[in-house]
Amino acid sequence: MKYQRSSALFDEAYQYIPGGVNSPVRAFKSVGGVPVFMKSAKGAYLTDADDNTYIDYINSWGPAILGHTHPEVLEELKIQAEKGFSFGAPTELETEIAKFITQSVPNVDQIRMVSSGTEACMSAVRLARGFTGKDKIVKFEGCYHGHSDSFLIKAGSGAATFGNPNSPGVTAGTAKDTLLARYNDFEQVQDLFRHHHGEIAAVIIEPVAGNMGCVLPENEFLQKLRTICDENGALLIFDEVMTGFRLAFGGAQELYNVKADLVTYGKVIGGGLPVGAFAGRNEIMDHLAPKGGVYQAGTLSGNPLAMRAGLKTLQLIKSDENFFQNLAKTTETLDFEIGKILNGKGIAHKINRKGSMMSVFFHINRVSNFDEAQRANHSLFNNFFHQLLKNGIYLPPSGYETYFISDAIKDREIDMTLEAVRKFEYS
Ligand SMILES: *Cc1c(COP(=O)(O)O)cnc(C)c1O
Repeated sequence: MKYQRSSALFDEAYQYIPGGVNSPVRAFKSVGGVPVFMKSAKGAYLTDADDNTYIDYINSWGPAILGHTHPEVLEELKIQAEKGFSFGAPTELETEIAKFITQSVPNVDQIRMVSSGTEACMSAVRLARGFTGKDKIVKFEGCYHGHSDSFLIKAGSGAATFGNPNSPGVTAGTAKDTLLARYNDFEQVQDLFRHHHGEIAAVIIEPVAGNMGCVLPENEFLQKLRTICDENGALLIFDEVMTGFRLAFGGAQELYNVKADLVTYGKVIGGGLPVGAFAGRNEIMDHLAPKGGVYQAGTLSGNPLAMRAGLKTLQLIKSDENFFQNLAKTTETLDFEIGKILNGKGIAHKINRKGSMMSVFFHINRVSNFDEAQRANHSLFNNFFHQLLKNGIYLPPSGYETYFISDAIKDREIDMTLEAVRKFEYS
């Protein structure tokens, strides 16, 4: 494949956009090389600026769960565009989508729309603090909840101490209210509740993690978090920006049968347009402005174009009763067959998978937390990524990401993917 045009576009973008991209992972910094600039997408396929095509396993990092540019979603957008792009006033459509979601997702009475997953998580934490009157939150290493200051925190020295800023610009004052624990390590969470008794407003978690590669919760971990939050008057926040409407319609809450107090959404909920949301029971959501005192707002929140794309996407998912089973089956086939090929080549690996999320770690042992994800052979992943890319398979450009399988990936695409994996040469 040739990447001349992508190369030229990246050089030009680099002069006018920091690092040439509007979100860091797109820059291929982790895997090396020049990022591929895309110009169109349809179904399972992406077309880049040099007219190369790829089978897409990123799907805009999740939103394109139906495949790209689904005709029925496109039609809705055209109809709405004629009526108006944005009003900054309430619309019937916003109630329609709120009603649809709260009636189909367990344990949520009300939902507030925002424009990104970052906003959703940031707002959910503010609401949890406002509701409980406490300041501290617990998050897990390797989980990503968007880029608001409270989440850009790394572990300090000694597991039960305060976090440290993980980015210049995040203040020590903010960092001291974020406590870090290892994913799947319930004892650390217990220690934090012991050391910070009565101070913890919420525990926030990706119920199936996707931002350190795909990592699954083990041994009733989510259930135990539910219990310890109840015992301590803390809220449990499920960040379902990735898992919501993906693992099941009701996300991880439905799949694992664990109730969260607040749930955040993003990605699939907007069907490819910029949408996030957070939701919960009446007694908590009633604390939000304008009804309650916890302030939160957005000029483009509930934007009609975004709501149309989101609602149609969710309706299409909901109307197909085999939707999640089919996605899981496709993913299982990829897992088994890729595993077989890599075994045949004698390449040590571990594939983590849940529903339509999966990651290949080049690692001998299981990967159940961020430390273990870091121990995987990431230079081998980078090699794998580039060889697959050359053969028309677009994986996430980092060994710390999950692959998002879309409904547009069928037998033909699976075969082409496996063919590319067969060509992979260990070097
Ligand atoms: C993507 C993601 C976010 C952030 O969403 P943005 O729309 O990128 O701001 C938050 N949490 C999780 C789990 C995510 O995967």
